[in-house]
Amino acid sequence: MINKETDAILVVDLQNDFITGSLAVPGAEDILPDVIEYVERFDQRFFSADFHPEDHSSFVEQGGPWPSHCVAGTDGSSFHKMLGPYVGQLILKGTDPKFDAYSAFSGTNLAEQLKDKGIERLFICGLATDYCVKATVLDACALFNGEVFVLLDAIAAVDVNPGDGATAIQEMTDAGATPVVTF
Ligand code: ZN
Repeated sequence: MINKETDAILVVDLQNDFITGSLAVPGAEDILPDVIEYVERFDQRFFSADFHPEDHSSFVEQGGPWPSHCVAGTDGSSFHKMLGPYVGQLILKGTDPKFDAYSAFSGTNLAEQLKDKGIERLFICGLATDYCVKATVLDACALFNGEVFVLLDAIAAVDVNPGDGATAIQEMTDAGATPVVTF
């Protein structure tokens, strides 16, 4: 049972560039219905978004590891259109050209917002399991004073190396997060 006041969902980076664009995660479109099904159960909704300036240090052109993605204000940075009616509190990350931010807690006030709203349980889903979801969950376990859950049927992995996603789930579990499937 979801408590509408003290339970929150955090949807990580379900943006066009990670779904169908320059950094598309395999299977990303398949999780959208599951994400929506979960989101509908919560009143407390947080949506993180990678939101980079054009010359962000994580881009190949600047010597970083990734192709240009989620440039602020472009279609690639927008949430998938299916999510439009559901988007809650926005958490923008990676906005400083000099610093990358895989975690939704990195350089944002998410921890303070969760505390101020009296959130006791945080349910995390989105993209990608082995990067921003993992970093967010590990930070949540360290910075959020409550229970952390990972919604296994509403995440998808890049799997640059086969098994990265499974390893990430193990790391999140080791850090104290509870993996759950449809509940
Ligand atoms: Zn990024």
